[in-house]
Amino acid sequence: MKLVKLLANLGYGSRKQVAWMFREGRVTDAAGDVLYADDQVGHADVRVDGEPLDPPLGLTLLLHKPPGYTCSTKDTGRLVYDLLPPRFRLRSPVLSSVGRLDRETSGLLLFTDDGQLLHRIISPKAALPKVYEATLAEPLRGNEAALFASGAMLLEADNTPLKPAVLDVLSPTQARLTITEGRYHQVRRMFAAVGNHVVALHRSHVGGLALDDLPEGEWRALDAADIERLM
Ligand code: URA
Repeated sequence: MKLVKLLANLGYGSRKQVAWMFREGRVTDAAGDVLYADDQVGHADVRVDGEPLDPPLGLTLLLHKPPGYTCSTKDTGRLVYDLLPPRFRLRSPVLSSVGRLDRETSGLLLFTDDGQLLHRIISPKAALPKVYEATLAEPLRGNEAALFASGAMLLEADNTPLKPAVLDVLSPTQARLTITEGRYHQVRRMFAAVGNHVVALHRSHVGGLALDDLPEGEWRALDAADIERLM
């Protein structure tokens, strides 16, 4: 494939914009020699502004989502995609978020262009644990952990009871909740069902992956070892 097409597919710009990048000498090989739009060079040998190219397929990212950003490509207001390089919104296949976090929820959010991986992560069969830290408006009463663990809790407007969830009490108004499902507003609705209100919510883990030291608003690409840890 000609380099101009490869770079356009990866979202570096339209064909016209990418053609300009070649004219400006921004596309080089690993040794720094300028490459041309019609060249057919192996993906691994190409650099844009000195940086290796994104993988053509199988790009998975982890973002530390700040509160106030919506998991959507076209909502008004601030979008999680605004925190990623613009090319990630343009590339084909598209990079979609793996599930969603509410606008005011912060924490670990994944994106992938790998449809199979996406389905493996969100599949009910996988039952991947997701860990949330919730700050509550009211002190916990003490009966919540048993109810959440029961496997018999029914949320309003749902027909099937929730799978057992683990509640660790961190302080009278702070708790860590581990769930294995991904129902709409699940954590907020669970606390609402016990007469409380979530004032801040943060997701710290998905499967075996944590945010570690990644600062809020920053992202990083996952490698094969990360994906193994995730599942
Ligand atoms: N549960 C919620 O209520 N909100 C989220 O963003 C994620 C899980």
